[in-house]
Amino acid sequence: MIVAVFDTHRFDRAALEKANSEFGHDLRFFEVRLEPRTAKLAEDCDVVCPFVNDLMDRPTLTILRNHGVRLIALRCAGYNQIDVAAAGELGIVVARVPEYSPYAVAEHAVALLLALNRKLPRAYNRIREFNFSLEGLVGFDLHGKTLGIIGTGKIGAVFAKIMAGFGCRLLAYDVCPRDELPVRYVEFPQLLAESDILSLHVPLVPSTRHLLNESAMTQLKRGTFIVNTSRGALIDTHALVEALKSGQVGGAALDVYEEETGVFFHDLSGEILQDDVLARLISLPNVLITSHQAFLTHEALANIASTTLANISAFERDTLPESVQVKAE
Ligand code: NAD
Repeated sequence: MIVAVFDTHRFDRAALEKANSEFGHDLRFFEVRLEPRTAKLAEDCDVVCPFVNDLMDRPTLTILRNHGVRLIALRCAGYNQIDVAAAGELGIVVARVPEYSPYAVAEHAVALLLALNRKLPRAYNRIREFNFSLEGLVGFDLHGKTLGIIGTGKIGAVFAKIMAGFGCRLLAYDVCPRDELPVRYVEFPQLLAESDILSLHVPLVPSTRHLLNESAMTQLKRGTFIVNTSRGALIDTHALVEALKSGQVGGAALDVYEEETGVFFHDLSGEILQDDVLARLISLPNVLITSHQAFLTHEALANIASTTLANISAFERDTLPESVQVKAE
């Protein structure tokens, strides 16, 4: 099938081209983000293959449909960036990669937590300037701390198992609790009140948007650390900045940011950052930000590429599994 791949980066192009030797699709790579202005690039294509920050609102989907696109093959797990109801009404099938490496994301959450707590970015920068002082580098033992895990699906479960090895007391909140995990499920307010560290692993849906808002942050223990490798809009960023300034939140390790589109994945080093909230966050010594890279391992990229292409082939044969399809609720 002819596939328009949007928001292409060198790393995913290489993985898709390698995996495609098995599938033989006609892949057309575009570096631009999918949005109404760029949707016409998919002219003559059967399939569009977007990533996390492509915009698939009704106007974009309508243009794609008019150009003959029949399948959106997301090369990611999350699907908050697509108007699924509009896709259904327009007769466009939506497929995703429900699982590619929960280890990649969970391990990155652990890396962020350790780096923030033990102040590794500061230590690294100091040593490069031959400053071997330890002033300001005091962290805390993870052992014995209460860790609140919000969402214990594939990624949250892996995260829980890793953190059990650190000797943390694990609390969790999820609408569908799982028996086999080393966590104690509690209600959301109890999780907020008792956690020293919170880690977010729920999808972004209307009921989870700004789950950590001003009210939630006032219910935290003073100095709680927050880790977010899920989706930026789970946190009200303005409330987070205020809570960091007051000390109510003791640190934030963020791989995602609610206004990351157009910023994350791009080299803006020669420009003036226009987002004052992000600039403020970056300026804080107790904030560590990565640019939506939690998924970025060789294993994950290979799995994303092969599952995406397999989804396209299955669609072509009319055998696309229900488990990868995204439909309006
Ligand atoms: P999953 O579907 O396996 O797990 C999500 C869990 O959240 C489920 O257990 C579900 O019951 C729970 N949940 C859903 N709505 C809830 C609610 N309102 N309240 C409480 N719990 C709720 O998903 P996953 O594979 O573990 O991925 C989690 C999220 O991680 C994805 O939705 C995506 O946004 C994010 N993600 C980020 C990256 C990255 O690179 N940073 C990569 C992959 C996924």
